[in-house]
Amino acid sequence: MKITEATTEEVFKLLDTSESGLKEDEAKQRLIHFGYNEIKESKKIPLVLRFLRQFTHFLAIILWLAAVLAFVSDYLHPGEGMRHLGFAIIGVIFINAVFAFAQEYKAEKAIEKLRLMLPFYVKVVRDGTQKEIAAKDIVPGDLIILSEGDKVPADSRVIESNFLTVNNAPLTGESQPVTLTHEPLQEELIESKNIAFAGATVVSGNGRAVVFATGMNTEFGRIAHLTETVQIQETPLQKEIARTSKFVAAFATLIGVVFFIIGHTIGRSFWENFIFAIGVIVALVPEGMLPTVTLSLAIGSQRMLKRKALVRTLTAVEALGSITVICTDKTGTITQNKMEVKKIWTVDSQALEMLMKIAYLCNNAKFVDNQYKGDPTEVALLKYVKENTGDFVAERVSEIPFDFERKRMTTVNIIDGIKVSLTKGAIETVLPLCNYAMINGEKVEMNEEIKEKINTVSHSLMDEGLRVLCFAYSQDEPEKDMIFTGLIGLEDPPRPEVKDAIKKCHEAAVRIILITGDASRTAVAISKEIGLVKNPLVIEAEEFHKMSDTELKEKLKEKELLFTRMTPKDKLRIVTLLQEVGERVAVTGDGVNDAPALKKADIGVAMGSGTDVAKESAEIILLDDNFATIVNTIEEGRAIYENIRKFISYFFTSNVAELVPYIAYALFKIPLPLTVMQILSIDLGTDILPALALGAEKPTAEVMKKPPRSHKERLLNLKLLLRVFLVLGPIEAAAGLFGFFYVLHSGGWQWGQALSSKSILYMQATTACLTGIVLAQVANGFASRSFSESILSIGIFSNKFLLAGIVFEIALQLFIVYYPLGNIIFSTHPIPLTAWLVLIPFAMVLLAVEEIRKLTSSLPR
Ligand code: ATP
Repeated sequence: MKITEATTEEVFKLLDTSESGLKEDEAKQRLIHFGYNEIKESKKIPLVLRFLRQFTHFLAIILWLAAVLAFVSDYLHPGEGMRHLGFAIIGVIFINAVFAFAQEYKAEKAIEKLRLMLPFYVKVVRDGTQKEIAAKDIVPGDLIILSEGDKVPADSRVIESNFLTVNNAPLTGESQPVTLTHEPLQEELIESKNIAFAGATVVSGNGRAVVFATGMNTEFGRIAHLTETVQIQETPLQKEIARTSKFVAAFATLIGVVFFIIGHTIGRSFWENFIFAIGVIVALVPEGMLPTVTLSLAIGSQRMLKRKALVRTLTAVEALGSITVICTDKTGTITQNKMEVKKIWTVDSQALEMLMKIAYLCNNAKFVDNQYKGDPTEVALLKYVKENTGDFVAERVSEIPFDFERKRMTTVNIIDGIKVSLTKGAIETVLPLCNYAMINGEKVEMNEEIKEKINTVSHSLMDEGLRVLCFAYSQDEPEKDMIFTGLIGLEDPPRPEVKDAIKKCHEAAVRIILITGDASRTAVAISKEIGLVKNPLVIEAEEFHKMSDTELKEKLKEKELLFTRMTPKDKLRIVTLLQEVGERVAVTGDGVNDAPALKKADIGVAMGSGTDVAKESAEIILLDDNFATIVNTIEEGRAIYENIRKFISYFFTSNVAELVPYIAYALFKIPLPLTVMQILSIDLGTDILPALALGAEKPTAEVMKKPPRSHKERLLNLKLLLRVFLVLGPIEAAAGLFGFFYVLHSGGWQWGQALSSKSILYMQATTACLTGIVLAQVANGFASRSFSESILSIGIFSNKFLLAGIVFEIALQLFIVYYPLGNIIFSTHPIPLTAWLVLIPFAMVLLAVEEIRKLTSSLPR
């Protein structure tokens, strides 16, 4: 029998299950037999191929070219050591590939781990009780419960539907929601309206279903097999770095060629020109840069996770730093979502019992296993009535559920044999339906005087920051001729961390716009309490809907803005218009209907407690639902971007210092001050760890004291380039050249005199040049820790990674200078202590110049 044509009883029989679900033991057995309910990733590119790819990208090709040049020149001029250089460059390509591959791999694993961090839970019935289990543990035969916002975990046959409406877009591409039924149908599986498919989401309503296919056996699994490939998207920043690297490499090649020609015209030999061209290329190509950037983004995402934000893409990590506006909900994000009944008001005391009945019966919260479960507003009401009045027993006939358009809910109950309909909701949607009020135990016709009184009381409750609900009932048709019963004010205290977070945003020039479903007065009171606003412009739903887009855009410029009585659709409109006026928007959301706004925003922020659909549409998931966490991620995002600039500036500075000796060599008749192997010892040796450590620098206070970066801003802006090319690089180059000539002169060398590359004096001179650059890079490591703060104020010892990196840097340099093996590999020779001593002042000057610059250009506050 086909699953679509079976009755509920037959479905149970077919799948060997029952009304009380599977037994746990049986479920375990089935899990072993059917395996996890997971979509397996289709084939990834094999690791070997991915490793090989590291040898064929643009930079690698340039280095291959350099190696070939070296071999050619060795062929033309044997015995000049060019063959060694050729091998060395191939070694570089290898080291580079391993390094890049390892970093990319590590970054990718970090991201994958983040993805796995968030298992989706499913409500199932097993052994007759309802529980939540991870979606991957679902097996055929499981009885699952589906409600609004859930993702369907596996292909299931519906056996109960209360307006259960799903969106099958992931499977069919058809985004029109379909309402499902539990009736047997004579339809093809894929078209059948009694099947909920894996991957679909529940848009509204609720129901129960029995799972009949899991994992790769689901319809989704079948198509996923065909189409899904796991691809980690390149972020705009990574693209920019790749572009920059290519540009620099092309530039290096060009310089190589130009100086080759210059060399040729001033009468240098062919192979001397070759070494030169190769040196320039190797000096300028930023070998380790791209993988370091990727890794530092990945490290950033892990740091955000420690601060309770799960970031789903690397793109989001960097986009966070440019956010200019946060649109946030109130309930649960700004506040704790711990509602408590604070004030109760009825026109007279006789209405109190009826008020309690409505609060208790027109309520879907539950008290099970000594715990309250459900919507926090309703839990608060239930708790209050249970603790103060006691339970009420009444049969519920039907329900018009709460929705944020109507902002009220109604149930029809039979109380003491009489049918009544009970309503609770926002005052402006309930009070207009009330034609009567309960006064002195009697039903009196509503009049302006009573209405005014009710409104006055409600306003005063709202002004205390309370959420006010209005209660009424009717003995007639539901929501007709209702009798006003009373008001209840609920308190939902703000989260304690929010105040500071808001202050940080204000300093960081990030605007916060509150978009709430709650009433204006409540929103204003709470916003003032937390220091969000002083004198805000409040736009309520009614006015909002009348405004044209142009008018609204004008209002969106306002500094202090609150939108009240909003629905998710309104939120989407606000986000869209903000983006149209050039803002970069982060928006929070938790419901199914928030998905479009979350997707539209630059950064969608879903609540950890929110629906699956919201989480899937968002870039960031707040594990603690806390507004302060968003601000923390912005801080991290900004810091990461700064860090990337820091190590790029650090890398480029030594590149300049490596290039200058070659230019000097080309222009003046001097021996080559720095060999190609020595350049490599910096680029792939001493520079690496300090650069990585700069990428891990913690956010300093300064990052949240300036406005967001413009998204048009380039990573390498003019200021940074000028500093590197005209100040820091030249100081380092001066250190290197000074070391070189200091040793030469001490050894009696005369200007113009030729030196054999094998002579001890020459080797010592190049060693001093290298040492000068490395010492200056040590100072540069400290100087680069912050673009604007003095090293003394951030603390010399506060980045342990950097200290370790610098210890390594110096140790490696000592190995290169004093250890015989180091001497052989890098053609160096031990230098006396005095050579170090004359070089140290250059490092000090570099640090001092940066300190003075930081002092004199202090940030505008
Ligand atoms: P925010 O958007 O800031 O998170 P919210 O999500 O609490 O606010 P909604 O849930 O849209 O806002 O609620 C809007 C209004 O609907 C509330 O102010 C209240 O008057 C009414 N309301 C909320 N929950 C219920 C409920 N369970 N039954 C009846 N009315 C409700």
